[in-house]
Amino acid sequence: MKREQMLQALASFRDTWDIVVIGGGATGMGIAVDAASRGFKTLLLEQNDFGKGTSSRSTKLVHGGVRYMAQGNISLVYEGLRERGIMLKNAPHLVRNQKFIIPAYSWWDVILYTIGLNFYDLLSGRLSFGRSHFISREKTIEAMPTVKKQRLKGGILYHDGQFDDTRMLISLATTCADYGGILINYMKVTGLIKENNKIAGLASTDTEGGKDYSVKARTIINATGVFADDIISLDTPGINRQIRPSQGIHVMLDRSFLKGETALMVPKTSDGRVMFAVPWYNRVVVGTTDILLEQISLEPRALKQEFEFILETCGEYLEKKPTREDVLCIYAGLRPLAAPQGKGKRTKDISRIHRITVSPSGLITIVGGKWTSYRRMAEDAVNTAIKTGQMVWRKCVTSETHIHGYDETIQAGTDPCSPYGADLPILEKIENESEKFKGLLSDKLNIRKSQIILAVREEMARTLEDSLARRTRALLLDARESIRIAPEAARLMAGELGTDEQWIQDQITKYTELAEGYLP
Ligand code: FAD
Repeated sequence: MKREQMLQALASFRDTWDIVVIGGGATGMGIAVDAASRGFKTLLLEQNDFGKGTSSRSTKLVHGGVRYMAQGNISLVYEGLRERGIMLKNAPHLVRNQKFIIPAYSWWDVILYTIGLNFYDLLSGRLSFGRSHFISREKTIEAMPTVKKQRLKGGILYHDGQFDDTRMLISLATTCADYGGILINYMKVTGLIKENNKIAGLASTDTEGGKDYSVKARTIINATGVFADDIISLDTPGINRQIRPSQGIHVMLDRSFLKGETALMVPKTSDGRVMFAVPWYNRVVVGTTDILLEQISLEPRALKQEFEFILETCGEYLEKKPTREDVLCIYAGLRPLAAPQGKGKRTKDISRIHRITVSPSGLITIVGGKWTSYRRMAEDAVNTAIKTGQMVWRKCVTSETHIHGYDETIQAGTDPCSPYGADLPILEKIENESEKFKGLLSDKLNIRKSQIILAVREEMARTLEDSLARRTRALLLDARESIRIAPEAARLMAGELGTDEQWIQDQITKYTELAEGYLP
């Protein structure tokens, strides 16, 4: 994927696109893969970098959602479990089977969660990741040596999936490009074009070069997550809000806080939510919270109360309570929840099920859902586009489509390079090109210099932030270490982009400022 070539393809295409997708997060990218793989002329436009929004800020779980089951939302759980199985099947280099334990401190909990999780297994049917069962206090401590031991009765072990969200997103983008889809980052949609009150195209601006583009489209799908209302109001000024943003934060800790390979799941925190502590690339991701917000932003920031809540809850379940100094990174994300119809609903009770609407002019909007259900959401959205655009029916093929880099011999999540899957030899080829591309950029994070080169050459990374936050995961894994490696990464990028010393200095300054916002 090369941005210049994508721009050329956009400029030279004089015909009408079948499906234009606004938004390069999980939802939009899934739709672009679905549409391109069905043979539709597909264009995706993202205002910033792919995954800059919520899709880089998840808990990294591929799951049915144990919590949604407790809420009685069985169809959502069933859909999630099915999609979890499909994701593992089609992307074994990106998704892995992760063991979780719910530590039980009363026998009542043991009974309740063993029954509940057996039902969870039942719902996953043939796509099960493994049977749930009760394990003794000794076995629980053996699997999670740092779990709080006082009054511990045992644990309920179950299985779910885990992944690297933005590596999945980049692999989806490449899959789409493999099918001939055109994807452009740093391209903001600024207006909708109508003919006889029907959607006929859109206007956009290249935020890098400043050039405006207008394209003709049979159908347009608004997949802009928490920004969906902005596009809806371009279509219907003054309309009621369709989405309700709710913030969730995560704290990244060293693995010494959760030793072993098993993740911890707390089914009921003091505010009635669930909390996870999951091993991820030799770190532990802990989260999350759920706070209703009025303001939306591409760079949401954790609130003090959310941060303190996570540390407190960790202290209730782990032997060692983390302090502010132990935190390697805090990141916040906004859930694009479909706004509830009734008044006074709490965000944790708002359904995560996706909602597709078609406006009188034909603008298709998709909101809600979760990362795990991106494929199913895409299938529904493209089916809706076919009807809306009166296009010839073509069957969805994504349940059988391998994601770019597919390699069943690679065990996902084992090291930061496993998500490259079958593309791993490309990194080695880059390293053989020059001495300056050899070796690690960060020993601590096990990030190779060649990953930065690949990010620029083939993954459309344009800024230092793209490379350190989303092509590699340096920012989330350790914000301080990412600041340390920023100058070298900027120089590697500049060599590929052909940019000057001024660009390098600007990027380092901007990145450092951003990364400092990910520290407590
Ligand atoms: P986004 O990723 O926000 O993408 C929308 C994109 O649209 C953005 O990149 C934005 O820049 C772009 N855009 C906006 N306006 C324009 C414009 N005018 N022109 C062009 N582009 C535009 N799900 C799971 O399955 N597992 C999890 O573990 C999980 N954990 C989560 C934890 C948290 C804290 C949160 C908040 C969510 C979590 N989710 C999880 C849910 C999942 O992350 C989201 O459902 C999903 O990422 C939403 O993707 P999206 O594409 O709809 O939105």
